[in-house]
Amino acid sequence: MDDYQADPMLQSFADAKIMPIIDALIDGDYRLPLVQTAFDGLVEQANKCYPKGFDIAFSDVLNENDPEGKVPFGIVGRKTGTPIIGIFLPIVLALYQEMDRTTFESFIVISFCHELIHLGSLAETDKELTTWAETCQQVIRLYVEVYGEGIDKHDWEFYSAWIQCNGDAESDSWRSFIVQNYGAHA
Ligand SMILES: [Zn+2]
Repeated sequence: MDDYQADPMLQSFADAKIMPIIDALIDGDYRLPLVQTAFDGLVEQANKCYPKGFDIAFSDVLNENDPEGKVPFGIVGRKTGTPIIGIFLPIVLALYQEMDRTTFESFIVISFCHELIHLGSLAETDKELTTWAETCQQVIRLYVEVYGEGIDKHDWEFYSAWIQCNGDAESDSWRSFIVQNYGAHA
């Protein structure tokens, strides 16, 4: 985490509000058992692609690939063999301020799992198409259908689109939804 020194206010936000959620998952005692099982499977898959593991880092600057500051999570350093899941604190803090506690928790878990799904796949094409379908299938579905918990409106848009195409990641409607959100080369 050397390159990512968050400012003290953002770092204490990360320590108090984000790390407890991620620590519970990593320690294997997240409160929703099926989400824990899904998380464990995603870590295992990511570790197959990156045997040296992955790091997590907080950043208090915006993602250079995201000048508009819209993307709260991202991956850097894949080519070095030890990728880093970057959490962009200014954006996450802004989202925290507009969500209730349960929704914020599911948002962090879903976002983190989404990045793990990216790490567990070496696909260079249709990345968001397949990664979002997997995110809906493996994680968001549990919050909505099994546990009946709130999810963030952005996650809800993706989940609704996925339900509307009956979970068919190959369908034209899913592709056009992803293209709307990410462009044709997602
Ligand atoms: Zn993604």
